[in-house]
Amino acid sequence: MKNKAFAYDDVLLKPQYSDIESRSEIDISTNLGNGLVLSCPILSSPMDTVTGTTMAIAMGDGGGSGIIHRYNTLDAQYNAVRRAADLRNTSAPIGAAIGVTGDYLDRAVAVRNAGATFLCVDIAHGHHKLMKKAIRQLRDILGDDIHIMAGNVATLEGINDLADWGADSVRCNIGGGSICSTRVQTGHGLPGLQTILDCAQTDRDVAIIADGGIKNAGDMVKALGAGADAVMCGSLLAGTAEAPGEIYRDADGSTWKSYRGMASKEAQTEWRGNYSSLEGVTSRVPYQGKVKDVLAELERGIRSGFSYSGARSLEDFQAKAEFIFQTSSGLSESHTHILTRKW
Ligand code: IMP
Repeated sequence: MKNKAFAYDDVLLKPQYSDIESRSEIDISTNLGNGLVLSCPILSSPMDTVTGTTMAIAMGDGGGSGIIHRYNTLDAQYNAVRRAADLRNTSAPIGAAIGVTGDYLDRAVAVRNAGATFLCVDIAHGHHKLMKKAIRQLRDILGDDIHIMAGNVATLEGINDLADWGADSVRCNIGGGSICSTRVQTGHGLPGLQTILDCAQTDRDVAIIADGGIKNAGDMVKALGAGADAVMCGSLLAGTAEAPGEIYRDADGSTWKSYRGMASKEAQTEWRGNYSSLEGVTSRVPYQGKVKDVLAELERGIRSGFSYSGARSLEDFQAKAEFIFQTSSGLSESHTHILTRKW
């Protein structure tokens, strides 16, 4: 048994000497391999309340990338990808998700033809025989030139196997998503930061995507410092104007959007007419306005984070990042605490 497995809130990064005078000196671009380069290391999740055509375009405009979800018909997904590839800034990468059963190979060919620049093989337990078969088939059909992201995994063995099967990047974290109930339903998973620390031990040529449980820019900085090449977000982006779905207004004037796990009862019933293992919930997130503004705020946090470690690039940051464990008193001190102080 491991002694300890760390979650994002368990640690802080030690501030270090810096000679950086302006955040603009910092390069936060990332190379995920096989042609997938982002000027901002943020991806939007392939979920039906997060990434459709409009989100994919907005993420690309912000220097990140959106992965168009697969929870619809092949035709609907084809059209969503095609519209994004018409309308996008042509240098922006656009991802499309597929599964590992049913029409997944037809989808892969269709979304590729529609203009997807990379594929994401998107299943809950990615360290699986069906994943191996799917990646091998995709490589046979589409060749080596297309970036294949795959996941999710929680372990070094998982990322190594997916890399050996042909994945260029791997989504790492099982059970850490804000709408996820996998750990309570199944008892399986690993605290999110620990997964990144473990997967970063890989000696394979594979990029690490820290997926799920990212609550703020500080968590992004911790994930990148632990070895992630990019982060993937659902809840942080689901409240924006560009996420699919209505904006609701409560009687007190507060505005919100619906956000649900793809393994929630509601999502499963809608996309496949029934449900099996329920490992997600449906919730709501405050309305946040435009993705552009949300990304700009997160990006400022990442740049400041690099600067506190005196780092000018992701590579530099990962070499310098020094984590320390914080106690529960440290955690409460880390959050603004004026309202809870006893005067
Ligand atoms: P968030 O950014 O913490 O909201 O987490 C988003 C991530 O949760 C996604 O990118 C998926 O990896 C994961 N996810 C999406 N739907 C479900 C679900 O129903 N159960 C478990 N994990 C999910």
